[in-house]
Amino acid sequence: MSENGKLSKFWIQELTRPAFEDWLENEAEPVVIVGIGAIEQHGTHLPLGTDSLGVEKFIHDAASRTNSVCIHPCWPGYSPHHMSFKGSITFSEDTLLAILLDTIESLAEHGIKRIVLINFHGGNSNIMKLAAQIAKREFRVMIATPEGPRNTETSKKILERMQRYLEVHSGPRETAFALHYFPELVEMWRLDDWENGVVISEQLQEFMNPDREDYELVSQVFSACLGPNTEDITTTGQYATTDPRKADVKEAEVSMEEATQFLADFINVWKTIPVPLCYRD
Ligand SMILES: [Zn+2]
Repeated sequence: MSENGKLSKFWIQELTRPAFEDWLENEAEPVVIVGIGAIEQHGTHLPLGTDSLGVEKFIHDAASRTNSVCIHPCWPGYSPHHMSFKGSITFSEDTLLAILLDTIESLAEHGIKRIVLINFHGGNSNIMKLAAQIAKREFRVMIATPEGPRNTETSKKILERMQRYLEVHSGPRETAFALHYFPELVEMWRLDDWENGVVISEQLQEFMNPDREDYELVSQVFSACLGPNTEDITTTGQYATTDPRKADVKEAEVSMEEATQFLADFINVWKTIPVPLCYRD
């Protein structure tokens, strides 16, 4: 529903055409939030759709705070590195790019000028940024890819653990966020015999230390040497040297709230800037 531009449903697939039109005509600065994630192995305890399930919760929350429409155009993303683990589905880079560009072009045709792209899967980042760059020029729409906040206590704490313990995939950080958003899909009992499956060489693991004076340099050497596939990094599918049973749900609650409000604030500030000449029809 939408009445005088005010939405009471935010997923595009749940709106009727007149409701969408009402929003488009009466919302002064309509914003669409497009979210992408992945269908890929997430260790033993997290669902294959973790990243997509997460991005759906996140963009819907942000849309409802900003009277925006949200879209989750596809479940899989770009996950070739996970293919040796069962259950992973990957689009090619061309497919994912085309899905994003076709989605944006359709919205542009209906007069939407402000589109936010939100990504919950690291493997998609470069493709999403490329889509944003191409779409701005080709379809004359503003595309935002906001990320933040980075300066809060919680986000600094999480970043530190990502650097020190490689908490990037299916570790305590992601487990906490899954337990916060969709606890019914998490199978913690599968972790009863958990062990650290990271197989990165010891020499390289010494570079995972943000206390080092040369951390800026060695962390980049670390990235240069890291294998391209999941099996080069871990035997269990979990990237993180730490036990996911240590997941702190309270922390995830705070961090997701900070990120949701950051995105809502971003959208509200963005709306105060009239559409620049270069993006007008
Ligand atoms: Zn994930």
